[in-house]
Amino acid sequence: MRVALYTLGCKVNSYETDKIRETFQSEGVVIVPFTELADVYIVNTCTVTQMAAKKSRQILHRARRLNPEALIVATGCFVQAGGEKMPEGAVDLYINNMDKPRLVQMVNEAMKGRKELETAIRLRKEEVRGHTRAFLKIQDGCRQYCSYCIIPHVRGPLRSKDPQDVLEEVRHLTSQGYKELVLTGIHLSSYGRQGTLTDPNDRITLGQLIQRLNEVEGLERIRLGSLEPGLITEEYLEEIAQSNKLCPHYHLSLQSGCAKTLRTMNRRYTPDEYAQAVERLRRFRPETAITTDLIVGFPGETEDDFEESLAFLRQIGFAQVHVFKYSKREGTAAARRMDQISEEVKHARSERAIQAAEELSWEFASRFIGGVREVLLEKTWEQGWEGYTDHYIRTLVEEEKTSGQRMLSENQIVSVRFQNCVRQDGEIYLKGVIT
Ligand code: SF4
Repeated sequence: MRVALYTLGCKVNSYETDKIRETFQSEGVVIVPFTELADVYIVNTCTVTQMAAKKSRQILHRARRLNPEALIVATGCFVQAGGEKMPEGAVDLYINNMDKPRLVQMVNEAMKGRKELETAIRLRKEEVRGHTRAFLKIQDGCRQYCSYCIIPHVRGPLRSKDPQDVLEEVRHLTSQGYKELVLTGIHLSSYGRQGTLTDPNDRITLGQLIQRLNEVEGLERIRLGSLEPGLITEEYLEEIAQSNKLCPHYHLSLQSGCAKTLRTMNRRYTPDEYAQAVERLRRFRPETAITTDLIVGFPGETEDDFEESLAFLRQIGFAQVHVFKYSKREGTAAARRMDQISEEVKHARSERAIQAAEELSWEFASRFIGGVREVLLEKTWEQGWEGYTDHYIRTLVEEEKTSGQRMLSENQIVSVRFQNCVRQDGEIYLKGVIT
């Protein structure tokens, strides 16, 4: 059986798809790129924005076109949200989030009795997925009820993985060669708040978990998924003070730099509180990279509000900003507001925010020119390797081949001296050589 997987949305979905992939592989199933002919196509969907839901539908249709005879499986939040307009005729099997752990078994059952399909291999140019960074989901559920988000309605109560289970999984991942670990969750800042899965009284904080993971042999880097600024307290900084594997990179969710817009989004911080969190992190490690998400064109956002957001981006000096145009999610408070912003205005603001974000990324990366940092090599390019620094800056590393052979290898961590910044395929890279 040949299975192709596609993931939309957050790191949690990526993690869950990785687990599904691993389970299939342990059963001897061949995993093929989504562009190839397969017997089963599994789409782990997302519905966080209208755009994500649209893309989920498109990918399901694409799977059907790739092989009209295949079993097409839809899982993830798009399925969970129900009520969504499901793509007619494109899907054979819907699996909700709660049933994801049984997905492989359900697919196997559905495939039983199906005539084995002739699969012609159409090789296409496809980037090979690296196995250098492992994603581990340690938390599920969210109780924040941001006014634009459907997730608290579809992901169930807060749940945290037991630290012992986390440690075991991380040891397993490092034994497979993974050097970098990304801890993810739907609302990672809530990790341990309601106790753990097996014992509601067994409280542990994210900082304490990081302390324990820091001791895992073979693990070189710990990176955190999206966090809320409220997590960054003095206590948290004390907890992580000795964790030398924790990357100096935080993805702190912002969404807006305007106090009024944050209130209408029901976000639980002000721009000042956000700036204080960043200041604490940088007091601890001055070069800390802060990356974030920004929503433009939220209902009621005026031109002045948007300007306030832009100014805030510059005040913080973000290393990366992912800009999203607000899109309505049915069932949310924001979708019912009468003061929606026109697509034209959203587009114009998005363009300006992207421009500002690129300038900031360039500025941030440029600070490292002349310096040396470790880079985890992930894939090759013509003249060497591509990878990420601990600050999560994309890096091109030049390597001269010896007798036509590369001496470096994927998943190796090397010290690189940065010579300049370049733009390539629309992305910003630091470029350097091995020291
Ligand atoms: S914090 Fe807000 S945006 Fe994030 S999952 Fe929870 S409700 Fe959604």
